[in-house]
Amino acid sequence: PEAITIQELANRMAERAVDVIKLLMKQGQMLKINDVIDADTAELIAEEMGHTVKRVSEADVEEGLFATEDEAGTLKARPPVVTIMGHVDHGKTSLLDAIRKSKVVTGEAGGITQHIGAYQVDQDGQKITFIDTPGHAAFSQMRARGAKSTDIVILVVAADDGVMPQTKEAIAHAKAAEAPIIVAINKIDKPGADPNRVRTELLSEELVVESMGGDIIDVEVSALNGTNLDKLLEMILLQSEVLELQANPDRTAEGVVIEAQLDRGRGPVATVLVQKGTLKPGDILVAGSEWGRVRAMLDENGEQVKEAGPSKPVEVLGFQGTPAAGDMVAVVENEARAREITDYRQRQIREKASVVASAARGSLEQMMM
Ligand code: GDP
Ligand code: MG
Repeated sequence: PEAITIQELANRMAERAVDVIKLLMKQGQMLKINDVIDADTAELIAEEMGHTVKRVSEADVEEGLFATEDEAGTLKARPPVVTIMGHVDHGKTSLLDAIRKSKVVTGEAGGITQHIGAYQVDQDGQKITFIDTPGHAAFSQMRARGAKSTDIVILVVAADDGVMPQTKEAIAHAKAAEAPIIVAINKIDKPGADPNRVRTELLSEELVVESMGGDIIDVEVSALNGTNLDKLLEMILLQSEVLELQANPDRTAEGVVIEAQLDRGRGPVATVLVQKGTLKPGDILVAGSEWGRVRAMLDENGEQVKEAGPSKPVEVLGFQGTPAAGDMVAVVENEARAREITDYRQRQIREKASVVASAARGSLEQMMM
């Protein structure tokens, strides 16, 4: 149920909290400034103090934010977005780094490649986006927030170790996200490497690779030596062709926050994966309970980009506060709209927190009696 603190109610009416407390007292309720009252009580108080009440719901505030479906004719092919998952030490980071080193086109600035949480490579003139925050926790956190951030999961399995607990976990995550899996059998350079054992073990997880009559693509790689990286990228492109990935680039942008932090010099910095539309400097965007006006967008080379279309990851400067990984992003028409949405969401967060706090106080008081 909806609830509000006395302070918040007073703020919204531009009244003094003490007057609200007095009114409640007259009605026999002894409450303090941070106590929570339900929406019905709040409405009565507001009316008694001569205010008109308009209850606003999440749906009202966010109407139209993510609502529009794109018509078929507006859709154009977009690059696949790939996440690498697998058991610890099987080579996720090494593989991401190897691909980045051999494939990220270094920019004019001279290739001061920086970590922005995601990067894009060029394979035979086609782009592939890699999310550079491996970790099952990050993946499921994003999914829990309703963001579908990945088209294809690369499952890394070390050829000298085989299927391990986190391999199984990764498979479960990929299946839950309905993202197709490509198996990268890594460390084939190692003396004890046994790729066929990996293939056999994957059978028990209901992943049947092509050589065993199934439809799961597998590629033997060595992140250490750079073996078969091209082949892996080609397989990703092949898989993405099957998926027919599309988005409308000619609309206001939507996307998801891949990661964000507060930078000492630059303020809040968020890596945003654009999923629909095209993001441009000057756009006003909302991400979770934060908003900002895009001051600059940087790519993985630290170079400014003037626009970012579907599947493009960019570092966005200009947020007022730091959003959270997994927050959905949408461009809105103006600052007032951005404030309306984020004020509402921040209020929701505060109110939830104070409901929890006052419940805790309540039970503490009970315990002391
Ligand atoms: P992660 O935990 O999955 O990110 O694994 P890392 O990328 O950190 O790799 C774990 C260890 O395996 C490191 O010592 C890497 O150098 C090593 N490693 C990764 N890929 C290969 C490979 O292809 N061959 C060999 N021999 N070692 C590798
Ligand atoms: Mg790692």
